[in-house]
Amino acid sequence: MRLTVVGCSGSGPGPDSAASCYLIEHDGFRLVVDMGSGSFGTLQGVLDPADIDAIFLSHMHADHCLDIAPFVVWHRYSAQTGRARLPLYAPVGADRRLAWAYDDEGDPLTDVFDFVFIGPGSFALGPFQVRTTRTAHPVECNALRVEAGGRSLVYTADTGPCAEIVELARGADVLLAEAAHPEIEGLPANLHLTGRQAGEHALAAGVGRLLITHVPTWVDRDQQLKAAAAVFPRAELVSTRAVFDI
Ligand SMILES: [Zn+2]
Ligand SMILES: [Zn+2]
Repeated sequence: MRLTVVGCSGSGPGPDSAASCYLIEHDGFRLVVDMGSGSFGTLQGVLDPADIDAIFLSHMHADHCLDIAPFVVWHRYSAQTGRARLPLYAPVGADRRLAWAYDDEGDPLTDVFDFVFIGPGSFALGPFQVRTTRTAHPVECNALRVEAGGRSLVYTADTGPCAEIVELARGADVLLAEAAHPEIEGLPANLHLTGRQAGEHALAAGVGRLLITHVPTWVDRDQQLKAAAAVFPRAELVSTRAVFDI
């Protein structure tokens, strides 16, 4: 299984990275996970969008879904697609949310996507066995465990501290964890992890390796890594276009 980081800037795009977007590949199947603001640009440098087999959106915050709009334009008007509809896995209501993100008439996007509404559960997605769980976040958000070829990757999506994510990540080869909150007092609960908390989740789940992502531009990336690695030493920061063979 191969993970390519397309966008890893937390909560919005930054000068060096788009917002959240990841490509997970196995056996020639290409799954795009999240498509945050700015990511469709970088994505086109990583693969031909016509080769995307499925899209998974963890939740409908702008930094995880808004570049669906330019993707729709590309799909409809580039004449590069064969115009095949693409499966899009997302929380209930994603069709409406994305339609209104696309234009002010709520243009249905059903010519571009086959919407598959998901909640916590497990299902097959191409060559992947997928398991999802609800995270601790203000809107419905699904963390994702992807397994293929005897390997496993877990993506926290956006979450505050969450016991269900520890369960989901149990024994995984790689945990791709957000660390958006700095180590300061008074930040809201059930929103994001600190670097230390990301490390604690990795340690409790017994994962092989921790990848830190979703650090906002106003938070010190090195401090987030330092805090995570103090708890879980096999931690590293991801950056845009980084590739990990899992
Ligand atoms: Zn986010
Ligand atoms: Zn969010």
